[in-house]
Amino acid sequence: MNRFIVVSNRLPVKVSKQGKSICFQSSAGGLATGMKSLADTYSYRWLGWPGVAREQLSSAQTAEVVDTLAQQNCLPVFLSQRDVEDYYHGFANRTIWPLFHYFPQNTVYEDRCWQSYRDVNERFCDEVAAIAGPDDRIWIHDYQLMLLPQMIRERIPGALIGFFLHIPFPSYEIFRLLPWRDDIVRGILGADLVGFHTYDYVRHFLSSVCRLTGAEHTLGDLHVADRLVKVDAFPMGIDYEKFSGAVGREEVKREIENNRREMGSCRIIFSVDRLDYTKGILQRLEAFDAFLTRYPEYKGKVRFILLAIPSRTSVDHYQMLKEQLDGLIGKINGSHGLLGWTPVLYLYRSIPFEKLVALYHQADVALITPLRDGMNLVAKECIAAKCHGRGVLILSEMAGAASEMGEALIVNPNDKEKIVQAIKVALEMPPSEQIERNRSMQQRLGRYTVARWAHDFLDGLGEIQKKQRDLSVRKLSDALRDRLLRDYAAAASRLFFLDYDGTLVDFVDRPEKAEPDSALLDGLRALAADGRNEIIIISGRDKTTLTRWLGALPVTLIAEHGAWVRPKNGSWRVIGPLRNDWKDIIRPIMELFVDRTPGASVEEKNFALAWHCRKSDPELARVRTQELKAAIANFVENLEIGVYEGNKILEVKNLSVNKGHMTKLWLGKSHWGFILAAGDDYTDEDMFDVLGPQAYSIKVRPGISKAKYTVDAVADVRDLLRRMSQAAVPAGGGCAIQHLEHPAGSSKKRNVRREQG
Ligand code: UDP
Repeated sequence: MNRFIVVSNRLPVKVSKQGKSICFQSSAGGLATGMKSLADTYSYRWLGWPGVAREQLSSAQTAEVVDTLAQQNCLPVFLSQRDVEDYYHGFANRTIWPLFHYFPQNTVYEDRCWQSYRDVNERFCDEVAAIAGPDDRIWIHDYQLMLLPQMIRERIPGALIGFFLHIPFPSYEIFRLLPWRDDIVRGILGADLVGFHTYDYVRHFLSSVCRLTGAEHTLGDLHVADRLVKVDAFPMGIDYEKFSGAVGREEVKREIENNRREMGSCRIIFSVDRLDYTKGILQRLEAFDAFLTRYPEYKGKVRFILLAIPSRTSVDHYQMLKEQLDGLIGKINGSHGLLGWTPVLYLYRSIPFEKLVALYHQADVALITPLRDGMNLVAKECIAAKCHGRGVLILSEMAGAASEMGEALIVNPNDKEKIVQAIKVALEMPPSEQIERNRSMQQRLGRYTVARWAHDFLDGLGEIQKKQRDLSVRKLSDALRDRLLRDYAAAASRLFFLDYDGTLVDFVDRPEKAEPDSALLDGLRALAADGRNEIIIISGRDKTTLTRWLGALPVTLIAEHGAWVRPKNGSWRVIGPLRNDWKDIIRPIMELFVDRTPGASVEEKNFALAWHCRKSDPELARVRTQELKAAIANFVENLEIGVYEGNKILEVKNLSVNKGHMTKLWLGKSHWGFILAAGDDYTDEDMFDVLGPQAYSIKVRPGISKAKYTVDAVADVRDLLRRMSQAAVPAGGGCAIQHLEHPAGSSKKRNVRREQG
């Protein structure tokens, strides 16, 4: 059975101290239900804070907590009172929560809390590292642990990590306010799969990633440091059966009866939320107040049951909200109330499940109007409990759930007038319409349950792993390298395609400074000295630079990705009949885009035009590049030009000008006994693409490529060439070949060979 590790701030079992004894209480929350539903397919362990501070427990009690939790597959991460204050109440709830819910005015930026957040994430990392097996999937939840994916990645590079954010990911304009925004983005990107409730949050996250790291994505696939990270939406569902099935239970029926007696003929407007400033409770009440003023005929005929669950009571903004709420309810009841009728029935506590389901079922109107909410499960639960199909949901467009529940009356929670009208429409909606709307939502909610959500996410994690494996190139191990050297030594004719920048020399700040050093020149000369070797340096550089730097070598030079060729000991000539008349059509289009994109430029090459946007705002650059591509696409067929998108560059050139075309020409010239191609970027992929199965193709730096193998750095390519050149030196060459054929030979021998090189 597959294994996975769930990591969340809180465990699904709440531990508390009651006098001298320890109390364990299982949570029936959505996440716990989702994880439980996976038990058929996976075995899992859950890591999190048990809810009690470390110093509150004696060592015997700590042991009891550990043992009891272990029986429920839970592992506690113990936090001190200080940690809970700074990491949880501090950074998580006073910084991230308000900011990510678009309350910058409630957000505090405290370095001490940030340090604590990092430390606690580090503590979680220690615990994960201590138990993670090599094949375990790790699923990290929520905003308290956003640094954890990257921390685990550093500790266990091959780990398969999923991260799900249960709250909104805000627009970059909000996110950028956070002083630690880079660390947070980097932290999340340690995961292989990053999940959000809605596509809006996905979009916001990708935009922040692009702006802060420069990483580009294709349909949510991000390439981060040569790793593929998938970002996608997984709207969390509910345990549909639990709510729809409960209505038939005796206890719930009894509650329904009690409520009926209590409410008489009054219609019920119902809302339930944690008492949180994001939930729009005050605005909702003000709208109800306005409704009663506007439509006094409803006085005595409708009651608002407002259930507010105490939450984060130690945070000042929550205390203030409670005071405001008490005052507002008093005012509404005072000004509209009648003898025997109180407009707002206010409950400030949690209620048992049976009572909650009864109210969901009976509510004529569910008024769920958060100012911002990652998902809002209450809206879904309420619809699930409406087995008779009656009742109307008024839902805020700012809740993630709104994107799945279009049949509700969708309102802007700040638009008091709209809410007033929506209440009226809801109270007067014909039952047949209510049923029709609710049935559609019920069908969807019944299909996409929390179990489905959990399976989808973990399946997604498996898929991304497969994709990574398919795309990732095999590292050129010592054994593979030695096989390559043996094949090389045995071959009577050998063909080399070597890219220059990023393959034979490292990138430097200024491209004109990337000239070859003498070791490289000597190495290439030695390799070329063997008559069996045909060496082709194939570069995007112009022919003047290549002549200046490499012109003295007995090798073939190819410039501008294949537009120009200078055969060994020959002179430069253009390949094929190349047209340039297309430039007059494409250049003005590119220039128009330059005018509209600060920082962009057009580079004119002999047979190509390149649009560069590295210095532009990344988001704008991305949009403009796609627009430009679309604009040029209209001309592509008639002009026989190709459009090639690279990293912050869009290059337009003759269709026949690419490294693949040139590679094919050379491949056909002879029956080569050994072929090696090395390159590092997208232009080299054309070259790798046309090589046959026998060829050795090497991509410098790991990543996604059509090459067969990868090496870490330029130094590895140069080392490989040096080894080959040593084998090629006739004097003592036999000796060198012998050594190469016995790679297990003493390291002393190998060192000697290196020194000779
Ligand atoms: N809930 C509860 N006790 C109650 C009333 C409601 O535990 O007395 C549950 C409710 O069933 C729902 C959750 O609290 O599953 C609230 O989730 P939601 O996504 O609506 O808001 P959040 O509190 O996560 O911001």
